[in-house]
Parts: sequence; structure tokens; C-alpha cells
Amino acid sequence: MTIHRRLSVIALAIVLATPAMAQLTRTAEIKDIPLRGNIHMFMGAGGNIGVTTGVYGNAVIDTQFAEMVDRIKAAVGKLDSKPIGYVLNTHWHFDHTGGNEGLGKSGALIIAHENTFKRMATKSAIKDMKLEFEPSPAAALPKVTVNDTGTLRLNGHTVQMMHLPAAHTDTDVMYLFAEANVVHTGDVYTRLSYPFVDVSSGGSIKGMIAARKKILSHVNADTQIIPGHGVLSTMKELADTIPMLEAVEKRVAASVKAGKTLEQTLAEKHTKEFDAVYAPRPDQGDVFVTRIYNELAGK
Ligand SMILES: [Zn+2]
Repeated sequence: MTIHRRLSVIALAIVLATPAMAQLTRTAEIKDIPLRGNIHMFMGAGGNIGVTTGVYGNAVIDTQFAEMVDRIKAAVGKLDSKPIGYVLNTHWHFDHTGGNEGLGKSGALIIAHENTFKRMATKSAIKDMKLEFEPSPAAALPKVTVNDTGTLRLNGHTVQMMHLPAAHTDTDVMYLFAEANVVHTGDVYTRLSYPFVDVSSGGSIKGMIAARKKILSHVNADTQIIPGHGVLSTMKELADTIPMLEAVEKRVAASVKAGKTLEQTLAEKHTKEFDAVYAPRPDQGDVFVTRIYNELAGK
């Protein structure tokens, strides 16, 4: 029994370390997915990138990793010969802002939520992944910030920035290309996987659910949804996650309220009927429940 328990703990530690390690693949070829309105989605290493190019300036939403900067520039260069004039960040995480410094040094104006500036300008951590970050260099930091909402007018697009409070982090912004009906959600929505709520960055499971409902209120069946990670998505796929999140949150909350330990809570298999869709790896249901448990139990 003792040996078995110890093995379980070791197994869990490996499971929790895996997402961070997976994200440390910092280079990949860029795959360009053309969307409506001359908007593009780039997939590579790290978070998905949204792109608009044209006469009023080339802009990217998120910048993956420093190692990807040359590839991002080359991929945008195939669409338009001008340099990248704007970087828009969905949130502060390293796999979405890693290329900020390189693009900032090339002259891009970086725009993000005020909390993205605050977290990048100081020593920060993603505790769940055991990652710590030194303050970012000045070139990487947002130069224009918003708190609640903002509007950008780029290449004929009205781009609405909307803060999604205390969701994946406290730095999340969604970008809505109003006329083209295209949205970049950042990591508030990752397709066909359980969400990562980074409590150490001000995220919360309740805020995550509220944020997805807010995104839903701005989209329709035709909206092209760029998720933080994963392939292009739809309103239906996003909507389908809401009952799943609400059910799992409610169940874990009941376990916490009943004074159950994490081990007892995991044994209840609260994600069981959702794992076929949202757990590409079999451990991910337990990782998700562990995070909600720790948040709600204040661990
Ligand atoms: Zn993130």
C-alpha cells in the first residue's frame, strides 16, 4: 500500500510536469491558415497567432517564442512586404509573448492589458508549472495598455479588445474583428482540451466559465474562432464546453465542501463522461480536477 501510494504520487508529479515540458518545444514550421477578411491564423510552436496585413500596418496577435521571431517575420512577409507594426497580446504567458522582444526591437508597437504589463515588468511565476520568470526587457513590454475595452482600426477592420477578468489569468483579452466575424480568444479557450486556470496569475474556474459565456455573447454560427491552442474552432465547440465546465466545477466544489481529500476527490472521477472529448491524454481529467480542487480548497 505504501509503495503503491508513493508510486501514485510520483506518477502525479510527472503528469503535472508534462504540460510545461511539452510547451518547451520552442520551434516549429509555421502553418498559415487563411481566414475571412484577409485575416490569417498561424500555427507553430506555442499559442496560435492571429494576423492582419495591409495598408495601415501589419499586426500579429501573440508572438509564441523568441526562437520563432524570424519565422513569424518571414510568414508575415509572404503576405505583405512591410515590417510588423503591431503586436497585440492575449495575455502575459511565455508561449504567447516570447517573441515580443524581437518584434519590439524591430519597431512593433506592443498593445496588451495593463495586467500583462504589470506581470511582465516584474518577477512572475506560473506555480502550477513550477516556472519562474525574471522581469522582461523593456523592448518586450506593452507600450499601450487597456483595462476594460479598447478599439483598434487596422486594415479596414474594427478590432475590439475586451478584457475577460480572472479567467485563464487576470491579463486576458479577446480580440474581435467585428466586420470579418473572427475572434482570437487567447487561452481562455483552447480547443478540445480541459482549460488551464493559472490561479497564480489571477485566474479562476468561475471566471473561466464567465469569460467563455462572454465570448459566446459576441459570436454566432459563422464566427471563425482562433483558440489559444488547437485548430480553428466554432461557436458550437465553444458552447459545448460550458455545461462540461459547470458540471465539473460543481462536482469538485461539492467534494471540497464535504471535506474530501484530493485523493478521494480524484477517485470520484468527476470528468469521466467528458474525457473522451477533452482529454487527449488519459491523465488530463485528473490534472484538471486537481487544479480546480486546489483552487477551491485554497491550496
Ligand atoms: Zn496561457
